[in-house]
Amino acid sequence: MKLLAQNKKIKEILIGTHNKGKIKEISFLLGKKIKKLTPFELNISSPTENGKTFKSNSELKAKYFYKKSKIITISDDSGLCVDCLNNKPGIYSARWAKNLGGFKPAMKKIIHLVNLKNKKKLKNTKAKFVCSLTLQLSINKKITVIGEIKGNISDKILGNNGFGFDSIFIPNGHKLTFGQMSKKKKILLDHRFIAFKKLKRKINTL
Ligand code: IMP
Repeated sequence: MKLLAQNKKIKEILIGTHNKGKIKEISFLLGKKIKKLTPFELNISSPTENGKTFKSNSELKAKYFYKKSKIITISDDSGLCVDCLNNKPGIYSARWAKNLGGFKPAMKKIIHLVNLKNKKKLKNTKAKFVCSLTLQLSINKKITVIGEIKGNISDKILGNNGFGFDSIFIPNGHKLTFGQMSKKKKILLDHRFIAFKKLKRKINTL
């Protein structure tokens, strides 16, 4: 499903992130007709993500990359929120993994913490992925939408596809983790896709 390609006003777009997993997913969703640029080719470094919410972080990233490039920019801030861990790691998902030495140790830690929490209580493995997407159309014009997908944390790391925390998240209504699904299936199901569909609806009413 090509989301923005149908909008004739947008011919090129900067994907405002250095995360290669996100670049792949967003490129796929944008479709072939739009020229896509990334901060790598334009030599733009990342801004400090000091927002307190997914929304404030995606907005600060989109504005920052727009200001640097003057190109219509799409930015995403996303993360995994685990119910029994007070929605952690949440907006700190990327930093958590970095501090623990990568996604494998971070996924192990989440499974361990969920198991600890569940020793005494009723089993609660609920989690959700959240994505805030901002499209910065000009310096003063932006659209922000939020997509969420609910599911559960698996008891093992399962599957090698995808990126980040994909291998411990089983979306509701499915038996496999995102990491076990084909890339295309995951991309057309996840929080980013849900946000994209909302963005497309908003763009069409501009
Ligand atoms: P940030 O938005 O750049 O702060 O990074 C978000 C982090 O959340 C990523 O580095 C991943 O750890 C995680 N994350 C966001 N979206 C996904 C996804 O679709 N799959 C797996 N992990 C994700």
